[in-house]
Order: sequence, then structure tokens, then C-alpha cells
Amino acid sequence: MADGEFNDEFQTYMLVVAHPDDSEFSSAGTVARLKDAGRRVVLIQVTSGDKGTSDPNADSAELGRTREAEELEAARRLGMDEVVFLRCEDGALMPDLSLREKIVRMIRTHKPDVIITHDPYRPYALHPDHRAVGLTTTDAVYPTARDPLYFPQHYQEGLEPHKTAELWFFGAESPDKVVDITETFDRKIDALRAHRSQVGNMDDLEERMRDRARELAADLPFELGEAFKVVQMRR
Ligand SMILES: [Zn+2]
Repeated sequence: MADGEFNDEFQTYMLVVAHPDDSEFSSAGTVARLKDAGRRVVLIQVTSGDKGTSDPNADSAELGRTREAEELEAARRLGMDEVVFLRCEDGALMPDLSLREKIVRMIRTHKPDVIITHDPYRPYALHPDHRAVGLTTTDAVYPTARDPLYFPQHYQEGLEPHKTAELWFFGAESPDKVVDITETFDRKIDALRAHRSQVGNMDDLEERMRDRARELAADLPFELGEAFKVVQMRR
């Protein structure tokens, strides 16, 4: 079931994540492999992580700017093609039609074959923003971005309905696809280190990430992996 290969028909991959660093923690090794394989990779950053600190005196707007700069650096290190900041408020995401419209617009703009996002169905332990982004992205793919009567205002901007073929959920309880990141693990760590405000004093970052990646690839013919639950959407 698990494999590290990418479907030849799929050229554009779009990540939709709640906070800067979510894409690197979950998927940076896969992103590096996709770029090595010549795929287009676009990152949609829903919030700028403007509440991601334990310092009560921190300035939220400044933190958001810092984290956007960190995300751009991480994306540069991985060779991502484009990063879009939607600048929704950190910690305040709701799985509502307003957020869905924003994500549908991104789908119709970038026309991904595969969308990688948070698994909203993982029980009990989810950050509410992760649940909101995962759920809203799932609902945005089908039927909203696909069917023409939803958000027709998009057509005045030259956009068209779009069918996304697959959704890949990271953080899944029972993943069914493990991408081999043995060769790209160092680039994942390098990208994660760009998030200095988040991992700056995490001495055991590499060790923790290696243990996790090794666990995800247990019983597979490679050493390190990132795991996803794949859902077929094109019908
Ligand atoms: Zn997050």
C-alpha cells in the first residue's frame, strides 16, 4: 500500500495549513521530493501564526510578520514555487462559508491535482485551527470548488470551477501512504530551522523528528517517512 512514488498525471500540489511551520513539521521531506520530481508546489498559509508564543508581552502583529518571514525562508530552502498568506486571525478559525470561499478561490486559482492538509477527523487532540482548516479544505474541494453555482463571483475574475483529484491528510490516525524521505530528511530539518521563533531553543529537534520519521516507516523498505491518509476526490 505504501509507496514513495508520485502519480505522473499529478503536476501541481497545494498545501493548505493553519500556521507557519505546520507544512514543514508534517510534509517538508515530501515537498523536497516533489520538487526533485519537478512538480509545482504551492503553499496556502491560512493564518500567520500571530499568537504562537509563550511570551505574554509579545506584539501579535510583529510576531505575524516574523513568522511570515520565517515561512518564506523555509519555503525558499525547499524550493516551493509560491506561498500565499491569507492572514486570517490565529486561533480564531471557524469552518464557515467565509473561510471556505477563500480556500475555494485558491483552488480555482492554482488548480491543484493534489491538496495536502490537516486531517480534521483525528479524534480528540486537534488544535481548533487545524480542525477548521482540514474540514473547510475538504468541503472546499468537493463539491464547492468543483461545481459552478458556488461562489460565481469568482468567474468575474477569470477563475473557473476545478476538480482536485486527491486529498492527502497529514496527522492521520490511520495513514495509508508513506513517502520515503530518507534522502530529503536533512532538507526537512534545514527548513524547520528557518522557523527560529518556534524551534530556536529546541535542542532535540533533529532527534525527535528522526524518531518520528523512523516510526512512520517501520516495516517499510526505507528508513524515514512522512505519512498521509489519501482520499480520492475525482468522480
Ligand atoms: Zn499549527
